[in-house]
This record gives sequence, structure tokens and C-alpha cells, in this order.
Amino acid sequence: MILELIPETPVELVEKFCVTFHCRHVHIQYKHFIVSSSKSTLDFSLISPYVKQRINTNSDLQLASLGFSPKTGFQIEDITVGNGSNMFVAAGPCSVESHEQANETALFLKSQGIRFFRAGSFKPRTSPYGFQGLEEKGLEILKTIKQEHDLLLISEAKDATNVDQVLKYADVLQIGTKAMYDQGILKAAGKSGKPVLLKRGFGSTLQEFVQAAEFILCEGNERVILCERGIRTFETATRFTLDLCGVEWLKAHTRLPVVVDPSHAMGYSYGVTGLSRASAALGVDGLLIEVHPSPYGALSDSSQQLDFDSFKKLKAQISSIANTMSVSVI
Ligand code: PEP
Ligand code: MN
Repeated sequence: MILELIPETPVELVEKFCVTFHCRHVHIQYKHFIVSSSKSTLDFSLISPYVKQRINTNSDLQLASLGFSPKTGFQIEDITVGNGSNMFVAAGPCSVESHEQANETALFLKSQGIRFFRAGSFKPRTSPYGFQGLEEKGLEILKTIKQEHDLLLISEAKDATNVDQVLKYADVLQIGTKAMYDQGILKAAGKSGKPVLLKRGFGSTLQEFVQAAEFILCEGNERVILCERGIRTFETATRFTLDLCGVEWLKAHTRLPVVVDPSHAMGYSYGVTGLSRASAALGVDGLLIEVHPSPYGALSDSSQQLDFDSFKKLKAQISSIANTMSVSVI
């Protein structure tokens, strides 16, 4: 349950109430809310004169739910995401490897009208012997690229210890599939107030995924994007299984922008364009696509990154699909 309080509510009373009834006091854009677990039966007589509105979400999807607010989208710099009028394409290499590699990719993507550049510099690899990313040095490179090409940067933090470091450079903080359950990074991302792209844990249910987003939202950070990037099933022929049913569920139950990353789901470049077309036809709010000047030589995820020609075709195809739905591709 969510209680919206009138602005005059004494803060000490709210704090006392929250301690007594084990609920959270949340501030969002100058408004105060009390959020309680769906399982608790809240006796709010203590605070009732200050309650402006009571919202029964009937589940632990609370601040993310459509019951709390309609889907309006939000701003990331000059771009509105998640209001249904556009679909953004965030593209770039899995990892920043050098200035030349990032620059060549950015130059190409800019020529394709892309505004969001994605590239990781802290790579949470499964093997400790794989390329771990250029870390701070890579972020310095990305800062130059972002400035020179007027791009918005999406980059990943591995854990709570480097959230601030990444956000010195990035416009959007990416939380990867393996970090989705890490409450330290979720809380730090929430407190940062910066836009967050939260990837679904590959072994998590949709409910767990949205609950992870709630950890960010209840810190008062409204700008959370949900990213479906494939889940683990019994199938091993593809890297993961893209859960398009899940995408529809997220669209039907949450007010947050929903985007798809077909690159990590498929794991092979040959499937990325088809899955992007399918996602565009579902009306997702964005796509995350890995692109590299020479994919075979990439230091991470080489099998799934698209070369420039393939990306060009993908962009043209999804644009014509989006066009039929009066959605612009940015
Ligand atoms: C990535 O986007 O490069 C990445 C590592 O993604 P995921 O966390 O979904 O595997
Ligand atoms: Mn990758």
C-alpha cells in the first residue's frame, strides 16, 4: 500500500510511524509517501489526518506499478524516454578497448542518428582471466568521445564501490544482469538520482526484477529503465532466451520504460536484427545493441557484436516498423 501525504505532514511523525509499522518514507519530486509491504495490514489512524491519497497496489510492485502513476516517461538530458512516442537505440561496443575503436564506432553511430552510446569500462566477466575492462582509463576515453560527438553515455558499474566513479562520466548508469540482486549497487544508484538502466538478472523472475527496481525507486530516484536481456532456460543453442512474454508483462504492469537487449540474449550476431525487429513490433521504449568496427577481434562478446553494415540494415528495418506505429526512432 502507498499513502501519499499532504506537504504539511510533520516529518518526525512520518519517521515514527515508519519505524513502528516497518514501512518506508519516500520523497519523490517534493512529494512524501509511505510505502508498506503488500503483506502488512497497515493501521494508519495515527497519520490519517495527513493522508491525501491511499493507493492499494495489492502486490510488492509499488512505486513501479501503473497503479501508482501512469506511464509518462522521463527526461534524460534533451531526450524523453518511455512516453510511447519514440524508441531510442543505444549502441556501441561491449567494452571500450581504445580511443581509436571507440572513436570509429561513435563516428559511425553519429552518422546513423544515434544519441545514446553504450560501452563498458568495468566488465563483470564470468572468468577472472577474461578482459576486465580499461576501468578509469576507459572512462577517460569515453568522456572524450562523448564530448567530441555530443553523445549520451551509458556505462556499467560493477558494484556499489564504483557507482560514483562511473557517474562522473556517464549520463546513464548501467546495472548488469549479475549485479541485479546486489542491494548495495541498487541503493547507491537510487541515491545518485541519475538515470539507471537496470538489466534483468538472467535467473530472476519478473517480480524479482521489478522489486530490484523498487530498491532504486524508493530512494527517490524515478528514472529507472527496465532492460530485458535474455534469461537462462534449458536451451543452450543460443546464449540466453529472450523473454518477449516478459516484455509484454512489464509493459502491462509497470510504468517504467521497457527496453530490450537482443545482443546478449542471442549471443550471436545473426539473430540480433530479427530480435530487434520483433522488439520494435512489440513497441518497446528502446533497444541496446552491441556494435564494433571489427567484431571478430573484439576483446569481449565478439560473437554477438554487429559490424557497421549490419547495424545500418538493422536501423533501417526497425525504423520502418516503428514508422507504421507512428513511433520515431532516436
Ligand atoms: C553488457 O551490456 O555489456 C553486459 C555485460 O550486459 P549483461 O549484464 O546483460 O550481461
Ligand atoms: Mn557485452
